[in-house]
Amino acid sequence: MDLVAYVATAPRRGETVTGHAFRTVPGGKGANQAVAAARSGGAVSMIGAVGEDDFGVRLRASLTEAGVDTGGLRTVEGESGTAHIVVDGEGANSIVVVPGANGTVDGLAHGDERRIAAADALLLQLEIPLTGVLAAAHAAREHGVRVVLTPAPAQPLPPELLAVTDLLVPNEHEAAVLTGKSDPYDAASALLASVPEAVITLGAKGSLYAVRDAEPVHVPAPRVKAEDTTAAGDTFVGALAVARGEGRPVQDALAWASAAAALSVQRAGASASMPHRAETDAFAAGLLEGRTS
Ligand code: AMP
Repeated sequence: MDLVAYVATAPRRGETVTGHAFRTVPGGKGANQAVAAARSGGAVSMIGAVGEDDFGVRLRASLTEAGVDTGGLRTVEGESGTAHIVVDGEGANSIVVVPGANGTVDGLAHGDERRIAAADALLLQLEIPLTGVLAAAHAAREHGVRVVLTPAPAQPLPPELLAVTDLLVPNEHEAAVLTGKSDPYDAASALLASVPEAVITLGAKGSLYAVRDAEPVHVPAPRVKAEDTTAAGDTFVGALAVARGEGRPVQDALAWASAAAALSVQRAGASASMPHRAETDAFAAGLLEGRTS
């Protein structure tokens, strides 16, 4: 759950400031990607955990409402995962993440392997322990299920995880942390030493798609007025996974995911801003005809 306080100036150490607004918003990268994929028309199961607190009830409900199957979402003792976010007057934020229940997802539970085996793709992020991420990735690989990894929060990755990743989707910052290279083209070619396919997302500049034995392709983002870019990357990944799962050619799938992400940045909120499939279809069709709205 994202707990967001809006202030003119963020407090310094030892200081108390008065904010002007507060919101609680269901979030978390995994849940955001699940909602994005479900709204994009995918059949989605979420594996994870919430606490036995009120947040847990609300987090589960928000997934169910989006059409996500929560049979693999455990309710465990203690608190749900929370992100404590302070947004200042310039829109810059500072965040404390407390994993809570997410910290208990350190391996697969009963039924998880079956859920993974039944899927076209497994979407992974790094907001649960690495042992949980690895167990899920290995199960997917064993059943021939495509593994799509968002390496966020940014951190170095064990070779064992990269070895079972089919598609890596870092943003510019994460790609630099993983490769030590700040130029996205250099970072992309470095990533291909470890994974067969990568997409580096570049915010308003779009994304860079790279696959072994071919030149990288820059996919421009539609030009829109950004209101709130929270979860743009999660929207992109969720939509991309659905489009690829339907067998669309990579370039089409990337353009469609960019359209979904561009729609999401024009609206406030994380999962609340994510478009439904019909909206993305209409927006993408308009872009092809040269209209932007
Ligand atoms: P990011 O995580 O910021 O790299 O954003 C993920 C994806 O969201 C990008 O690859 C774009 O497709 C889209 N996106 C992010 N910011 C914008 C923006 N200001 N305008 C249009 N699309 C955006």
